[in-house]
Amino acid sequence: MTPSLVYAECPLDRSAHRRSDAVWLEARLLDPVTQVLPVWRGCGLVTKDERPRLAAVAGAEARSVLALAAEAVFLGTDSHGVAWFAADISSRDEAESGRLAGDRRFADLRQIGAVIDRGEGAVLAYARAIVHWHRHHRFCGACGAATVSAEAGHVRRCTATGCGETMFPRTDPVVIMLVTRRTADGDACVLARQARWTPGLMSTLAGFVEPGESLEQAVAREVREEIGLNVRRVHYRASQPWPFPLSLMVGFRAEADASEEITCMQGELEVARWFERDAVAAHVAAGGKLPFRGTIARALIDGWLEG
Ligand SMILES: [Zn+2]
Repeated sequence: MTPSLVYAECPLDRSAHRRSDAVWLEARLLDPVTQVLPVWRGCGLVTKDERPRLAAVAGAEARSVLALAAEAVFLGTDSHGVAWFAADISSRDEAESGRLAGDRRFADLRQIGAVIDRGEGAVLAYARAIVHWHRHHRFCGACGAATVSAEAGHVRRCTATGCGETMFPRTDPVVIMLVTRRTADGDACVLARQARWTPGLMSTLAGFVEPGESLEQAVAREVREEIGLNVRRVHYRASQPWPFPLSLMVGFRAEADASEEITCMQGELEVARWFERDAVAAHVAAGGKLPFRGTIARALIDGWLEG
């Protein structure tokens, strides 16, 4: 799949070997060129431009942000070798975050994901996801004691004597699939919508992978549960980090039997139906929407439209 996907092309080298190098990390935190990206309640600091730019801070401002932060996570190094950190300042109130923002703003990727530079959006997505993970793993799942950040923010460890529980940042796999069929009359794909979506938006099916399930099984189960179709030939296409909050979208094409009819099962779907290629164009021409370019859902649809 060729089109570039938002959040999928993080330009930072994660430099994982540095995560346990306390001396190097300490020096980077004092280095005036080091970039610190403040994250406040899921939102990253960006400029107020129509096409916002990432507004990481450096020098004295970086040190004051780090002083406000609950957690600092080493994200990696950029192409100039400069270290990047994310700093979670979510515990600060609106007034304080507003003072810090100054003539910039804290923005949710959900609002700016389609327009921000792809690489900068990917850095924000990475920062947003890992900061979210820290905020939701402050206590040990095994014994309930407090946990502390380790490995420059890529591990949390339980503080209770004798427990030893170690937690790693989570990523939840979600399968997202374009279901297609081939008949004598031509090809068609399934587009569907949930009632809570933007009016007019039609998209692919998707669902979380369950424990003990392969990705292919998850595709088949979700399609059966949501629209009552059996699919064969499930093919992987591409994947995309989806930091809302901690998902990885794994994209597939899945072929259904031509004879089978869609039954909207009880669930989140408001409508689901077959669209031939010209019906997709007609949907858009009539003011209907597809997912924005850069989402894996749109790439799956466009890839099929292009044959
Ligand atoms: Zn514990």
